[in-house]
Amino acid sequence: MKCFLCQRESVIFLKYLNQGFCSKHFVRMIKKRFMRNLKNLKMWEKNSKLYIPKGKELRLVVLNYLFKDRHFIKTKKNSADKIVKKECMDDLAFYFIKNIFSGKWPELKISNKNIYPLYNISYEELKVFAECVGLKYFKKEPEKNLFLEKVKKIRPGAMFSLVRWLE
Ligand SMILES: [Zn+2]
Repeated sequence: MKCFLCQRESVIFLKYLNQGFCSKHFVRMIKKRFMRNLKNLKMWEKNSKLYIPKGKELRLVVLNYLFKDRHFIKTKKNSADKIVKKECMDDLAFYFIKNIFSGKWPELKISNKNIYPLYNISYEELKVFAECVGLKYFKKEPEKNLFLEKVKKIRPGAMFSLVRWLE
């Protein structure tokens, strides 16, 4: 299948958009989404100091790649203005559902002292992104939830609606 934006072959088909993307355009889209999260949701401002956890699992490898630009000021945990969390969309959608079904309102907010810049990027997207830009990583699959799987089949954009409650 061809990319939705150019003539190259797709590396991923996104059901929620009903479009395929080539490596170049997919990488660009994820970077844009990430930057939009940081700016529009006030996760980050120009001179704020960030703590970014390190590690070899997929989420952390991609996070460190996305934050590698020089204009991000990195610091230790205790002197940071914002602490970056690694959870991706699957993790947070699961968290949301688990709370709702046990009668609790999910208190987590994606943009506080703790920030979740991957909150609307799925594990699958992180995997393809890492492959496109050539990152090495360890797998750490998100917890499977049958309810979530079913909902995603019926409505591919469902995870976006769930994590939006955490904004
Ligand atoms: Zn393309």
